[in-house]
Amino acid sequence: MKNKHRRRLKPIPFLILVLVLTIFGFLIYKGVSKKSPTLKKEQQNNIINKLSKLDYKKDEIEDLQDELSDENINFLVSKEIKRDDFIDIYNDKYYIDQYMTKYIEYKSKHNDYSSREIVERVNTHADEAFYTNTEASNEKLDKFVIANKHYYLSSSYTAPDLTEFDPLYSLYGATYKNELSEEAMSHFIELFNQAISEGYGIKINSAYRSYQTQNKLYNNYVSSDGVKLADTYSARPGYSEHQTGYAFDVRNVPNTKDDFEDSKEFDWMQENAHKYGFFLRFPKGKEEITGYQYESWHYRYCGIECATYIHDTKITFEEYYEYFIRYHNPRNIK
Ligand SMILES: [Zn+2]
Repeated sequence: MKNKHRRRLKPIPFLILVLVLTIFGFLIYKGVSKKSPTLKKEQQNNIINKLSKLDYKKDEIEDLQDELSDENINFLVSKEIKRDDFIDIYNDKYYIDQYMTKYIEYKSKHNDYSSREIVERVNTHADEAFYTNTEASNEKLDKFVIANKHYYLSSSYTAPDLTEFDPLYSLYGATYKNELSEEAMSHFIELFNQAISEGYGIKINSAYRSYQTQNKLYNNYVSSDGVKLADTYSARPGYSEHQTGYAFDVRNVPNTKDDFEDSKEFDWMQENAHKYGFFLRFPKGKEEITGYQYESWHYRYCGIECATYIHDTKITFEEYYEYFIRYHNPRNIK
């Protein structure tokens, strides 16, 4: 009774409050949802109309307006990119907005490729020939640093925690000095010990190689096999994964096989390497992406989360790098 009486007394201030909050909320909503303050309502309607004429559906247009940069939206409209020529690319798991125009250009030349192939190739720069348009690698990324036929390291680069490791883990014992990032090495020691406890022997054959060492190696290969052949199995100086300090080659012990793939240790690595932060860097079938022949013996450290992701999804480190590291896309992808 008392409450009823009280309510009846204040209907007008209450209504005013509701009205003010509604207007306020609407203004905030409009401010947040508006993609760019410079883009006028008129222009937005114009874009919506043009995209629907290009066969994009209403919900797709809304999604594109939220996700694409203004430049890319304008590109779709001005170049009249039809839905069928773009939507599957856009919906690919590893679509990177910064590469949108490259995808469209690449698709126009390779219409027989699937959208996955187009996105994968553009993401990993496999749409360009090796050793052309190369870029300096971001050398501050530690375990995520990349070196391949598109990204190079400076001649003075080394991993920040490069360390000489115990000959116990080296195939050649104390006769050959082996170095690796300390973080990668400590994980390798765990892997090594676990492998031994299960009856497997895995030792490191070759780990860090300096720019100068790689330079000598590569030049020797070139003088015996020529540039074309040497490029298929050896990196040019600055472009070698071994210079990162996070990569190494392994052999099985004690009865070392010529081809690591023929050993039971290889199978063990396939099952377990990622649990310690390592992955097979040059897998079978990805030669055009990685730039190297399949190497069953070459492993790379990038931490447990990254290595497990690569192990589970089978994407290359090239694509992982572009999508997650270079362009910071979230791990919980669509
Ligand atoms: Zn190697």
